[in-house]
Amino acid sequence: MTVAAERIDRLENLARAAAKAGDEDRAREYVRLARRIAERNRLTLPRTFRRFTCDECDTYLVPGENARVRLQRGHVVITCSCGAHARYPYDT
Ligand SMILES: [Zn+2]
Repeated sequence: MTVAAERIDRLENLARAAAKAGDEDRAREYVRLARRIAERNRLTLPRTFRRFTCDECDTYLVPGENARVRLQRGHVVITCSCGAHARYPYDT
């Protein structure tokens, strides 16, 4: 794992912890920072990161807190509290 990948990993954990503590603003800052690091280093963000962050507002999504998760014909649909939807093929 590269230094950049480790930083992204750490930021994802921080974002999750902040979001769970109800501090969405701080979580958003961690998400943005991680996105920037990934971009600069041409890294693909981890799948968990992509699934649990909103593409529209960078909020770290916590199902049941600030996100709704629904299953729909073979897809998982995550709705952020900002109203944005993200659809993923259903897999585990
Ligand atoms: Zn959003």
